[in-house]
Amino acid sequence: MLLEINDVRFAYHSSDVLKDISFKASGGEVIGILGKNGCGKTTLMKCINAHLEPHAGCVMIDGKDVSKTTKRELAKTMAVVAQHVNLSFPFTVLETVMMGLYPTSEWMRPPSDEEMERILEAMESTGVTDFASRSVTELSGGERQRVLISRALVQDPRIFLMDEPTLHLDINHQFNLMELVVRLAREKNMLVIVVTHDITLAARYCDRVLLMEKGEIVGSGRTEDVITVDNLEKVFSVRADVSYDERICGLSVTFLGKK
Ligand code: ADP
Repeated sequence: MLLEINDVRFAYHSSDVLKDISFKASGGEVIGILGKNGCGKTTLMKCINAHLEPHAGCVMIDGKDVSKTTKRELAKTMAVVAQHVNLSFPFTVLETVMMGLYPTSEWMRPPSDEEMERILEAMESTGVTDFASRSVTELSGGERQRVLISRALVQDPRIFLMDEPTLHLDINHQFNLMELVVRLAREKNMLVIVVTHDITLAARYCDRVLLMEKGEIVGSGRTEDVITVDNLEKVFSVRADVSYDERICGLSVTFLGKK
C-alpha cells in the first residue's frame, strides 16, 4: 500500500493553508505530523481522508485519487480518529465500537463470529472491555477517545489517521496507545499517521516525522533527523535537549524552556 501526497494546495479563503505539500508513505510505518497551532496539520489530514478536496495536487492511494474514490471504498482502506467527535446518542460502548463494521451505513446487522472477534480484540487492545455496556454519553474524555480508537480499529484499515489521539489520555494510556499503533504497523503492515503536539511521544514512537510550518513541510525524514535541537528552536521557539536513550530504545526530549 502506497500513500502519495502530490503537491497539495488548499485554502479556506484567500490565503493558502497548505502550500505544495508532498510526501510518500507506505504500510508498516508510524508517521508523526508536528507543528505549531494553525500550521495546517488538521487540514492536511482532512485532505488525506478526502473530507476536503485539494485546490491543486492530489492524494493517491495505490495510484488512485482519493477524491475520486467512493466513501464506502475509502472506508475499507482508511480509518480516522478525528478531534471533536460528537457522541451524543446514548449507544453503549459495544454498539459504538460495532459501528466500525459499517462505517458508511446507518443500519446495523448482527456481526459474524469473525467480526465479533475483531470487535472484542479492538476493545481489549484499548482497555474498554470493562465498560462495554455503559452509555458513551457517560464516559470521560479519555474513555471516549479509547472507544473511538476501538471503533476505527474494527474497520480493519490499511491506513489509520489520528488527530491528537493522546490528548485526553492519562500517561499509562498514552504509552498503551502508542505501543498499540507501533504493533499495528509492524504486525498488520498498517500505515499510521498521527498528528500530535506531544513531541516527546512522537520522538519515542514515530519512524518518520513531518514538521510543518505555515502550511509547508520544513522538515521530513527519520525522527532523529527531524526532531533536533535546532528544529525545535526554529519551529517552536523552545530550547530542548534531544538524545538517544537506551533505556527506552528511542529518542528522549527534555524541554528546558522558551527560546
Ligand atoms: P492545525 O491543525 O495545525 O492547528 P488547521 O489545519 O486546523 O491547523 O488550520 C490551519 C489554518 O486554517 C488556521 O489558520 C485556521 O485558523 C484555518 N482554518 C481551519 N479551519 C478553517 C475553516 N473551517 N475555515 C476557515 N479557516 C480555517
